[in-house]
Amino acid sequence: MKLLIVLAFVAFASAQTPCQNIRTRAQWGSRSTSLTWMATRPPSGFAIHHTAGARCTTQAACDTQMRNIQNFHMNTNGWADIGYNFCIGDPGQVYEGRGYGRHGAHAPGFNARALGHCFFGDHSNVLPTAAALSNTQAFITCSRNNGELTSGHWVSTHRNDRQSATACPGQALFNTVSTWDRFHSNP
Ligand SMILES: [Zn+2]
Repeated sequence: MKLLIVLAFVAFASAQTPCQNIRTRAQWGSRSTSLTWMATRPPSGFAIHHTAGARCTTQAACDTQMRNIQNFHMNTNGWADIGYNFCIGDPGQVYEGRGYGRHGAHAPGFNARALGHCFFGDHSNVLPTAAALSNTQAFITCSRNNGELTSGHWVSTHRNDRQSATACPGQALFNTVSTWDRFHSNP
């Protein structure tokens, strides 16, 4: 009986997608903001960033990072909210930033047509954790399956935005993302 319960739990856990386990704004302690819907939904793109700041290795630390970045983007940059639609840290749980369908503030050429997704940390020389990388790929897939990305969507990075001059998301992370399914260098 015990074994059956364990097996049922494992089957349930493995069936969960990252889309079903998003750390919501309420859970990480977001400020309340007013956000703008994208004019065209769902968007066709998924754009990868790094924060170029500190990594986080626990849920509590990633919660703090989200609040710090949101405060920086709102107080210093004067933006309506944290710039990214989603973020992910070392533990591999996806964080809800602006969320689905919201016009972003992450790359001028992508804000209206891509979900901006940040990895916490500086990934110039060091990759994110395997959990963060594989869950991001699974997150792209389940977002498409849930109708939050177009069926023919592309994946790209901040440096591929022709309107941006940036090294983001760092060379190490760029090298990996450029091998992913549906990567476009000039979307
Ligand atoms: Zn970026």
